[in-house]
Order: sequence, then structure tokens, then C-alpha cells
Amino acid sequence: MVSKRLAGAYLTIDLDALAENWRSLADRVAPAACAAVMKANAYGIGAGKAAPVLAAAGCRTFFVAHAAEAVALRRVLPEADIFVLNGIPRGTEAELHDRRVFPVLNSLEDIAAWSAAAGAGPAWPAAIQINTGMIRLGLDEEHVVTLAEQPDLLNGVDLRFWMSHLACAEDRDDPMNRMQLECFKRYREMLPAAPASLANSSGIFLGSDFHVDLVRPGIALYGGNPTPGSPNPMREVVSLAGRILQIHRVDSPMAVGYGAAHKIEGPGRIAVVPVGYADGYLRALGGRACAYIDGTKVPVVGRVSMDLITLDVSALPPERCSPGTLVELIGGQAEIDDVAANAGTISYEILTSLGDRYHRVYRGGR
Ligand SMILES: *Cc1c(COP(=O)(O)O)cnc(C)c1O
Repeated sequence: MVSKRLAGAYLTIDLDALAENWRSLADRVAPAACAAVMKANAYGIGAGKAAPVLAAAGCRTFFVAHAAEAVALRRVLPEADIFVLNGIPRGTEAELHDRRVFPVLNSLEDIAAWSAAAGAGPAWPAAIQINTGMIRLGLDEEHVVTLAEQPDLLNGVDLRFWMSHLACAEDRDDPMNRMQLECFKRYREMLPAAPASLANSSGIFLGSDFHVDLVRPGIALYGGNPTPGSPNPMREVVSLAGRILQIHRVDSPMAVGYGAAHKIEGPGRIAVVPVGYADGYLRALGGRACAYIDGTKVPVVGRVSMDLITLDVSALPPERCSPGTLVELIGGQAEIDDVAANAGTISYEILTSLGDRYHRVYRGGR
């Protein structure tokens, strides 16, 4: 953890907003249950801090991508059900079951391995994922048919829910959403009865048909907009502020940064802030993003370097903008979805790229 005294930029994570986001989604989907997706260190915000806060808010089911993430999460979540979306490596079944880490079984081979590991004793909890059109993980139609014809392949599996994943949920008008929902229903009618889970964050906003029994939000918990094109219904969780390191007065035409990519006519002022692409302030933001000082918009000019960015602060009088002044880079007026759009990406990538050179401040959560 980088100390405040030594850091050049501060990442603030609002754990109360996180809990409120979870509660608002849980209310929206009730009586369906609401899980939390914690993969990639809870989208970069810190799974060790986020998970206990969500558990205290009432969350009982957590998802990660990798078995190693589940084992780490178990240390801060003594009670919850933890599911591994990518499944678990062969040979680790008994060890993970002992830790009450449960796989999402994505193939008939996965099912056979889990069933064999459980043996003749009590069945072992797991989820089973079905591919309903995304062609990522899960059983294909032929495997669904096999399972429908031979339900005893599920012996040893305490099936907690059937699961599938939506490919286009962030576009509510995409016909793919309804097609996947119908496909999921059709498969479930063929298969042994069990609860089911389909919706990610955006899927929750497609309507109650999509909620089924359990929803799996990730990005919405962390403040990303699950309804692109409409106002963000979630509270902001992450904000990033950097401290100005140096100011240059420019009186005649000059160029700024690598490649001399930005020309400034002068007179004007350029501020240098110690945040760069190594910190997850993506290089694509150069010449495109904006930051804010005291509510005034200041454009990021020139290329983003590994450890520094340059801002045109000519609009601000020197007394409001000098070495040490804080610049809002993400959060507040620099909404994370806008920052992402300026980099040609999505909020998920901004969050999961955030580096470890920031001083991290966790607010609330008690
Ligand atoms: C990442 C993931 C989620 C969460 O998605 P968000 O869009 O962040 O809500 C849900 N389900 C699966 C299978 C995932 O991989």
C-alpha cells in the first residue's frame, strides 16, 4: 500500500456506495436473489475490502473467474457460497470442495470429474453453465441433449443452479437478449429442475423475465453504468485524483510531450500530473480525455506517458492551479463511462487496469 505522503495520486473507493449499489439491485430483482461478481480483485477495487461489505449488506453468493481467486476470497468470506466461473483445474476438486469453493461446470467432462470426485457420498454443490448463444463457456445443445437423456450423469452433483450468460445485455433493443432467454427456457424444460441464473448487471435492467432466480452483477456494483445511453442509476464508487507536479508557462508556440503531438500557441499554461498508462490511465486517453480542477474542465493534451500526463490549464488563474493542486481524473464530473468512451473502451477495462502506485483510500464500509 502506497502511503499518502509518498503518493502522487489518490484512489478513493466508497464502500458505502458499493453496499448501496448492491442493495438497490437486490431490491430491484427481489424475490430473485442477488449475487456479486468479484473477479479480477473485484474489478480492481479490492476484493478483500469489497467482499465483507457486500456480505454485511446481505449478499450470500459470490462469483470469481479463477480457483485461486476463490481460495483468496474464502479468507475474508467465511460463510458465503463462492462459485468459480471458469471451472476448476482437474485434480483440485477435493481440495476446493473442502474449502467450500464450488465450480461452475462448463462441459460434460467437468460434470464427470466433479461427480467422480464426490463419489458415492453426499452430492457436492456446483452450478452448470449452458451456452445459449454467446459461445464462450458452457454446454452446447448436443451436450444439453445428452444430459437430458442421461440425467444420472448428474449423480454426485448437488446442482444449485443452471446458468447462462448474455452477450448483448447492454443494448436493450438487441434481439439476441430475448433469443438467449428463450433458448435458456427451452433447455431448462428439457433438463432436471433446478433454479437458474442468467442476468449480469445490464441483464438486470432488461426486465424481470431476465432475473429468474439469481442475478450476477459486477460492473453496476462498482459504479459503471449498466444502461449505456441512459443516465447511470448506480452510485459512484471509484474516484481518482492526481496532484499537480509542475506547471509550465508557455508564451510562444511550442509542442507538448512525446512525438510533440500537441501544439500550443501560447500564452498558456501546462500542468504535469504524475499518473500515466502504467497506472491504468490508458495511453488512448491522450488528446481525448478531460480532467477537472474545482469544477473547471481541463483537457489532457499530448500523449499519455508511462508515469505522467499533461493538461492544458490555461483556463484557470495561477492561484487556483499550482504544484500540489488536486486534479479530478476519474469520478465526479469525469464520469468513469465517459473516461472509458474517450479511450475507446468500457468502464470495466478502466477499473481493472487501475495500477498499484496510488494511495488507496477506502471510505465507509462499517
Ligand atoms: C463477468 C461476468 C458477470 C458480471 O458481468 P457485469 O457485466 O460486470 O455485471 C456475470 N456473469 C458472468 C458469467 C461473467 O463472466
